[in-house]
Amino acid sequence: MRIGHGFDSHKFAPLSAQQNGFVLAGVEIPYELSLLAHSDGDVLIHALCDALLGAIAKGDIGQHFPDSDPQYRGISSRVLLQKVMELVTSDGFAVTNVDVTVICQRPKLAPHIAAMRENLAQDLAVSVDQVNVKATTSEGLGYEGEGLGISVHAVALLLAND
Ligand code: MG
Repeated sequence: MRIGHGFDSHKFAPLSAQQNGFVLAGVEIPYELSLLAHSDGDVLIHALCDALLGAIAKGDIGQHFPDSDPQYRGISSRVLLQKVMELVTSDGFAVTNVDVTVICQRPKLAPHIAAMRENLAQDLAVSVDQVNVKATTSEGLGYEGEGLGISVHAVALLLAND
């Protein structure tokens, strides 16, 4: 059995002409701001990738997909998650469960949680009941509370396939 933890935070930025909000776990969340990033800014998937990489002792997302590499510019983070899962699988592990906490003052994420869990379950090759996503505010405290950005904590438990 292996456990891993991941954390990431991204800063809100003005919408570009093509954007209507931001992306979390592959779900488009309508909002007046987007999340600044080299990829699609999916801070939830980035934290989850780090939890999975942590569990197999394979470093972090920045080492595998450097933001200096143009092939990752604007890439869907779901593709990165799928690539991380290839590493997990080739190391002989499968996901037992993952648990994700998103710290976000606004917008309200509750209406999008079910769709996020579906996407993650698909990419992790598990059922939806092995994937938990919860959202909390920070009661107005810190950068999340001031609405400057979003942060995400994730843990993943893996079991060896043998
Ligand atoms: Mg990131």
